[in-house]
Amino acid sequence: EQLVVAIDGPSGSGKSSVSREAARRLGAAYLDTGAMYRAVTWHCLDAGTDLHDAAAVAAAVRAADLFISTDPDSEEVLIHGTDVTRTIREPFVSEAVSAVATNLAAREELVRRQRALIAGHARIVAEGRDITTVVAPEAQARILLTASEEARLRRRGLQLGGGQSGEDLHRQVVARDAKDSTVTNFTTASDGVVTLDSSDLDFEQTVQAVLRVVAG
Ligand code: C5P
Repeated sequence: EQLVVAIDGPSGSGKSSVSREAARRLGAAYLDTGAMYRAVTWHCLDAGTDLHDAAAVAAAVRAADLFISTDPDSEEVLIHGTDVTRTIREPFVSEAVSAVATNLAAREELVRRQRALIAGHARIVAEGRDITTVVAPEAQARILLTASEEARLRRRGLQLGGGQSGEDLHRQVVARDAKDSTVTNFTTASDGVVTLDSSDLDFEQTVQAVLRVVAG
């Protein structure tokens, strides 16, 4: 029987690194759905697609030749043959990504591709904002990974109330979560989803907590 582990959570919850490590220990594939939203956003920016033109963005997403590695030991993301593995982590992509994330036709297309990728693996850990609710509501293990705002900022190596750049980043993280939560409800767990608050857990403890949920 297939094993699907679905993990949702806000940015800075440690979701990606924890999910990747959980996948390694489970001998499972790993899908970072946020990287897919980032890659198509980068492509729209690169191609000069007007991000405010919903139809143009949806068309670009539908036509996107997107490759994302599902090997937990490879982060490779290619779009139309261009390696964007590192570029998609840049702030200019983070700042633009909500234009794709709030586009319902674009979401529909990415969700379709995510379901196909998940179906192609006997064991997979998939993470994002809507995996437990929309992409894989039938997953054997569904987890909402949360962390206090303070813990999320601390993990980025910043102190609350610190320098100007820290405050800027704080504003950016809060603003992105606010934009995201207009489309995906990742702050409250729906029925059957286990909430894991990692605020007071270190990386290893969080991975262990995820593995305990998977073990039932
Ligand atoms: O997780 P990450 O920060 O890389 O995700 C980037 C953005 O992609 C999020 O801020 C959100 O807007 C969007 N996203 C989404 N649904 C997902 C994964 C990511 O809307 N399943």
